[in-house]
Amino acid sequence: MVENTESQLIFLGTGGARVMMSRQLLGTGGMWLILNGTEISVTEISVDPGPGALVHSLRHKLKPADLDGIIISHRHLDHCGDINAMIEAMTQGGYRKKGTVFAPADALDNDPVVLYYLRKYVQNLTALQAGQEYKVGNVTFRTFGPLKHGPSTTFGFNFFLNHFILSYLPDTAYFEELPSYIEGDIIIINTVLYKPRKVLHLSVPDVKRLLIKLKPQKAIITHFGMEIWRAGPETIAEKLSRETGIEVIAARDGMRIFLNA
Ligand SMILES: [Zn+2]
Repeated sequence: MVENTESQLIFLGTGGARVMMSRQLLGTGGMWLILNGTEISVTEISVDPGPGALVHSLRHKLKPADLDGIIISHRHLDHCGDINAMIEAMTQGGYRKKGTVFAPADALDNDPVVLYYLRKYVQNLTALQAGQEYKVGNVTFRTFGPLKHGPSTTFGFNFFLNHFILSYLPDTAYFEELPSYIEGDIIIINTVLYKPRKVLHLSVPDVKRLLIKLKPQKAIITHFGMEIWRAGPETIAEKLSRETGIEVIAARDGMRIFLNA
């Protein structure tokens, strides 16, 4: 069988923040990336595996034992609640030592989110630093940040793929230098808030401002809080597309997007 080496994103949940996570009106399993770094084979990564990541990945017929790594942007529960379950599933209960777990140092040291007894199941445990390059499978990515998201260290990621750059912008408030960090032709943006509020998350007007500055080929919004869910993520994406001239897609739970199509 010829392996399909097209890059893909699968959303194991498009919900974010505390209330949504507790109510599970939208799932919170984060994303599963199938990335083409070299054209020869793909690299599979679980990104921000919040509660439900393992259950939803199996429901969508993904194979945790095929994962090459797990990346978390920061230590909040909606981004890492299932990290231990994913480590165990990636390593087949610890019987097959494999993969790399990447997380900011404060997710590994103090009040760690990765259980100590599972750490020997993985090949590498890497404490992320700002502006550094890392390799997972055959994909290189670079961190950007730290972002403005409270005391937890939070990083975003630029993934360097075969024909384009994919950026993931997780939770943060908007700040002046933010657009300069993001290199992607395609950008995934965590859009928690409908209207701007004094909390450290992006709102719809912040996303609009970013898109006008960056002019990516395509943007995908996800990680919706209650207000966005009520207003309708698709309606918001359509409005953002109309106002910016950029293709904006609202992710849906279970949605699979082929990236180089
Ligand atoms: Zn957060």
